[in-house]
Amino acid sequence: MTLNRRLFLGGVAAGSALLSAPMVLGQAKPRVVVIGGGAGGATIARYLAKDSKGALDVTLIEANPIYTTCFFSNLYLGGFRDFESLQHGYDKIAAGGVTVITDMATAVDRAAKTVTLAGGQTLGYDRLVLSPGIDFKEGSVAGWSLADAEVMPHAYKAGPQTQLLKRQIEAMPQGGTFAMVAPPNPYRCPPGPYERISMVAWWLKQHNPTAKILLIDPKDKYSKQALFEEGWQKHYPGMVERIGPDMGGNAVEVRPASMEVVIDGEAEKVDVCNVIPGQMAGKIAALAGVTADSGWAPVHPDSMKSKTDDNIWVLGDSSAQGDMPKSGFSANSQAKIAAMAIRGDLLGAKVFPAKYANTCWSLIAADDGVKVGAAYEPTPEKIASVQSFISQTGEDAALRKATYEESLGWYAGITADIFG
Ligand SMILES: Cc1cc2nc3c(=O)[nH]c(=O)nc-3n(C[C@H](O)[C@H](O)[C@H](O)COP(=O)(O)OP(=O)(O)OC[C@H]3O[C@@H](n4cnc5c(N)ncnc54)[C@H](O)[C@@H]3O)c2cc1C
Repeated sequence: MTLNRRLFLGGVAAGSALLSAPMVLGQAKPRVVVIGGGAGGATIARYLAKDSKGALDVTLIEANPIYTTCFFSNLYLGGFRDFESLQHGYDKIAAGGVTVITDMATAVDRAAKTVTLAGGQTLGYDRLVLSPGIDFKEGSVAGWSLADAEVMPHAYKAGPQTQLLKRQIEAMPQGGTFAMVAPPNPYRCPPGPYERISMVAWWLKQHNPTAKILLIDPKDKYSKQALFEEGWQKHYPGMVERIGPDMGGNAVEVRPASMEVVIDGEAEKVDVCNVIPGQMAGKIAALAGVTADSGWAPVHPDSMKSKTDDNIWVLGDSSAQGDMPKSGFSANSQAKIAAMAIRGDLLGAKVFPAKYANTCWSLIAADDGVKVGAAYEPTPEKIASVQSFISQTGEDAALRKATYEESLGWYAGITADIFG
């Protein structure tokens, strides 16, 4: 009896020691690996850990130790934000129970259910979430490849590229030309290029008022077009010239070596050229074999689960889901639905019907904010817009200021929701 009791006590002691060893603890729990610590990936990692209260083993793999938001990066170009205000770390996510690994995921073996990292580590998973954002389609703009981004930056993944573009704008000669090659559909942040034109115009108006902006666009129409055009006319008359597809905007060639853009056979010298190329899902999604010919990854509209593999979820820009724009707001909204679905799948937690939301704010000039947004619900075919709204032309200054102030609250709120 005494011996048994001693053994029992010894067993408890040994058991406690084992329980505090994460490997043993980890083996007992379902493992969720998330690739990409941006708007979609960081949100789902945080929510899975928080809402499962330790019942899931959650690992977040992110290539960079610090995330720089694309959202509000145009405001940095306009001089409304400093660069540091766009940067967020992963300490709070780690403190919330997520294992954060700073490394690049290089391969997914769907049969073995493993992810391989550039550093050599191999991680097993029960469910895998991919939220790797976008990559660029080589050859989508004649004369430009990723190797030219140091001369003609895209600044469409925020970080050093955004800082380079700002330095280039600041170094423009008086009366110089800023050109942008806008991307074809579909791409990340539909109003993003046009908000950027507005913010560059704002900065130039203060520091280089005789400068010109050339917007070369392959699309017939674009997001919030009437609002942007009204704003450019009001704040920057004569500064912005848009060359649409009818004028050769869909067949531009760029020459990084001579800083020229060639439109309709005519070469023009420019001082800055912001090339935003055609886009596709972040490369790891294709390596995992979950993308379609379109370059994006089809998902079930009610859960964001991949249509190719029941153990994989795809969030944010990489997903092909229907009507939602590729935005940080959308990725964050989708991540919460996916977190609920994965907890239902692995832990039997209750799953409620999916409802998604998005709003995209844009700043046209100081205190002149506009927005477009919608509520979304899944249909059997896609995530469908069920109710939408958009700012109107001719709105008064007080409403535009209130809309801008709303966007400041949104940025503070969503970055806290994503990163803790
Ligand atoms: C100029 C601009 C302005 C914008 N403004 C807004 C706005 O006002 N509002 C809004 O809602 N959205 C805005 N967006 C869009 C928004 O930034 C994206 O839609 C959003 O970030 C998408 O989230 P995501 O999780 O899909 O990808 P991301 O946030 O890009 O995250 C992807 C992450 O995955 C990592 N990664 C990729 N591959 C790997 C790998 N193999 N291994 C490890 N890590 C990997 C990347 O380093 C990155 O951190 C804007 C975008 C731009 C360019």
